[in-house]
Amino acid sequence: MEDQWRKYFLGLDDNFFEIETANIMPEKVFEASGHISNFVDPVAKCKKCGTFHRADHIMEEFLHESFEGKTAQEMMHIIKKHNIKCPKCKGELGEVSVLNMMFPVQLGVDKETVGYLRPETAQGAYINFLRHFNIMRMKLPLGLAIVGKAFRNEISPRQLLLRQREFTQAELQIFFDPRKLDEHGKWKEIAKYKLLVLADKKITKISCDEAVKKLKLPKFYLYYLAKTQQFFLNVLKIPEGKFRLRRLSDEEKAFYNKVHFDIEIELDEIGFKECGGIHYRTDHDLSGHQKISGQSQEVFYDEKRFLAHVLELSMGIDRIFYALLELNYAEDKDRIMLKLPTPLAPFTVAVFPLVNKDKLPQEATKIYNMLKENFDVVYDEGGSIGKRYYRQDEIGTPFCITIDHQTLKDKTVTLRHRNSTKQSRVKISKLAEEISKLSL
Ligand SMILES: [Zn+2]
Repeated sequence: MEDQWRKYFLGLDDNFFEIETANIMPEKVFEASGHISNFVDPVAKCKKCGTFHRADHIMEEFLHESFEGKTAQEMMHIIKKHNIKCPKCKGELGEVSVLNMMFPVQLGVDKETVGYLRPETAQGAYINFLRHFNIMRMKLPLGLAIVGKAFRNEISPRQLLLRQREFTQAELQIFFDPRKLDEHGKWKEIAKYKLLVLADKKITKISCDEAVKKLKLPKFYLYYLAKTQQFFLNVLKIPEGKFRLRRLSDEEKAFYNKVHFDIEIELDEIGFKECGGIHYRTDHDLSGHQKISGQSQEVFYDEKRFLAHVLELSMGIDRIFYALLELNYAEDKDRIMLKLPTPLAPFTVAVFPLVNKDKLPQEATKIYNMLKENFDVVYDEGGSIGKRYYRQDEIGTPFCITIDHQTLKDKTVTLRHRNSTKQSRVKISKLAEEISKLSL
């Protein structure tokens, strides 16, 4: 999935690149980014059993609405008003306080020198922007992508991969000239493309052209909103009804995001879950780093000196991975399948000899080695052929090839498709071509 992400998003522009930056960064970086003062979660401790709870989460569970953006005082007020108790022991809840979600780390010997594990990959791209701008021949837009770990001290990690203390993000920071906000060179590609946007509690289709007028969104932003949706629908094959773009209200979104849409996927029992976001962050980040570092972050571009603006495409790999497992899991009587799109399957092809004698394993190994040059292939000779098929179905392998006695006579093999279980005879010389064709 990460490979597909790179291929797709770095392919959107010749001036987009992947970089790798530090996991541990000095306190100053997070002072500049606002994480030291703002990256906090509301916490309430039960007076009876002593358990710490995320105040907004227990309110959400109790009242079934979102409380993002509320202050600790406002939350305390709501808890008192609705008489919300500890979900564990029904005891009374204490005051709501805030806890910074970053993991502090001591740097070197001096206990006073503090750094933090990065709570998002984004800061790495911001503090390295100017260097990359200069290296990459001073062109805008410039895209810097980071795929890597981020760390947050969650009070209660839960729901499998959905809330973790250590998780993987794929983020693309696009630095651009704010004078060009209302245009995009490839606008025509997506002008008629319909976005799936949540409006009036249902998913509404709206073309990018219409979105400019009705939603008052800039073209540069809309281009990437459309491209992100296409990644989810066309590459990851998320079904249309399970995907939506949700615009955050002014209360919900961070103050520095001028436009913020969440990418949401519908999960069983959980409902629509945020799996990423598209954020127009203006010059918030670069101006913050400029102020704290005392170093100008301005660029000279197209006859003007200015701070580049940032459009951030941020995605949570673990959440999307979880959604893919859930959405592609299928049962057909006693057969369990993972109907993953071919580019996402761990293996594209499995190769089996029908029996472990009569030189079939030797012939199968030859074919395995041949296919390995172009595909992710797995070889299996254990158990009945039916069991081997089922094993591959379970891990999502889209194609299985069986070498039998006929292979030795006419140089053909059986090619079996995961979803339909249909089988056909294919010449060994045409195998690679046939699999490539079916993989598209
Ligand atoms: Zn309690």
